[in-house]
Amino acid sequence: MTKNPPCAIALGQNSIPIARQITNLFPGAKLYGLANRTFAVDVVSFTDFGDTVRELFANGTPIIGICAAGILIRTLAPLLTNKSHEPPVIAVAEDGSAVVPLLGGLSGVNDMARQIAAALNVQPAITTTGDIRFRTALLSPPPGYRLVNPDDAKTFISDLLAGAKVKIEGNAPWLTNSQLPIAESAELTIQVTELGTPSSKCLVYHPETVEQPRGKLAIIGTGPGGLQWMSPQVQSILKSATDLVGYKTYLDLIGSFVDGKQRHESDNREESGRAIQALDLAAQGKYVAVVSSGDPGIYAMAAAVFEVLERHNKPEWDNIDIEVAPGISAMQAAAAAIGAPLGHDFCAISLSDILKPWSIIEQRIAFSGEGDFAIAFYNPVSKERTWQLSEARNILLKYRSPDTPVVLARNLGRTGETVKVITLEQLVPEVADMRTVIIVGSSKTRKIERCGNTWVYTPRRYCDEPIK
Ligand code: SAH
Repeated sequence: MTKNPPCAIALGQNSIPIARQITNLFPGAKLYGLANRTFAVDVVSFTDFGDTVRELFANGTPIIGICAAGILIRTLAPLLTNKSHEPPVIAVAEDGSAVVPLLGGLSGVNDMARQIAAALNVQPAITTTGDIRFRTALLSPPPGYRLVNPDDAKTFISDLLAGAKVKIEGNAPWLTNSQLPIAESAELTIQVTELGTPSSKCLVYHPETVEQPRGKLAIIGTGPGGLQWMSPQVQSILKSATDLVGYKTYLDLIGSFVDGKQRHESDNREESGRAIQALDLAAQGKYVAVVSSGDPGIYAMAAAVFEVLERHNKPEWDNIDIEVAPGISAMQAAAAAIGAPLGHDFCAISLSDILKPWSIIEQRIAFSGEGDFAIAFYNPVSKERTWQLSEARNILLKYRSPDTPVVLARNLGRTGETVKVITLEQLVPEVADMRTVIIVGSSKTRKIERCGNTWVYTPRRYCDEPIK
């Protein structure tokens, strides 16, 4: 794998958002833009495309061009002499619909293309066959190992391709998932040791003496807003972390905790890309905190990290120390602000149909109506999504009285906090937004007025026996 951080190249202003999405994935990555065609403060501006790309290529910088593959090929053609020293070169379509690895098969271009494609939600156009994967694994071991006899690798790999088996002596964790034809008795050997016997039948890797510190990844929940709802555990993680990864609004919310840390902000929807970035930073030995609001395990980043961890299974992630630190979720803060509407059985439903189809959401609302659960609705409406909340109300009205208490809690713990009680009948999209969590009571939920306050609570008993 190449060591220089990559560089994304935009030839027009239209390509800047995609280019920035890509640079956000790689720590230290730079965004290059054609002078007079691109305008943004964080862009390194250039005038001659050919000279710039050739210079980057010559000094081993991975190149991601937001342009046609042909332009990159023609520009680099005169320099394509030594396959083993090529940095990754990738062409990405201006609208993000195609990610094409072009060069750098031996320096990890396919993995890089997979990572970019995952962030853009497309399939990478990988054209090399499976054996390139073990070639990459053999020629570019992960940090902490060095191949002592790269000159023997060519013959060694041809033998493998011809069907020879290989045995591994020592600990080579990055080869466990590599598709190598491993066998107990084999004509080829891989040794991971200081004292190997390198030959064309035996590749030797030296463990490098500088031990990298074990990287840490903490997925934390800051609570809905203010510091009073952030747990001491989360505060202490935020103090020790070196790198913070998260949606800009959430990082802004944690105030002075961000001082002196590397911030890796991103758009709220790029959750997989953000998770990959966080794991990669941790694999480099950083202490990374992935910041969610509320609880990190409730409609937030913790599941996104585990999804990526299962899907990609990168050996360099194996050594990361992962921890999830809980936070107060919006529904708990909302419940506390108004009394105890979740005092008996309840459930949570996100009304966002971005990650699941509406048919499932609809079914869940009906089942919770039938089961008489109090319901906390997350992501109730957004600018583009409004009808879902009306639908939810209509379904629930089949099971519950129109005057069932409904709690609307907006901006909890933040400036502009409001908590209101309305009835199920009054629940229309206009009363809520993305910063509102809604609690719909069960058939037992009560609204009472006491000491000049309105309280909503759900009794703990289901039968109507008198309270003792
Ligand atoms: N992990 C978060 C939920 C993220 S989903 C948690 O546990 O709270 C985003 C949704 O959470 C929003 O659309 C809104 O419904 C709710 N939400 C998050 N923070 C909120 C706050 N401070 N006030 C009211 N609702 C909030």
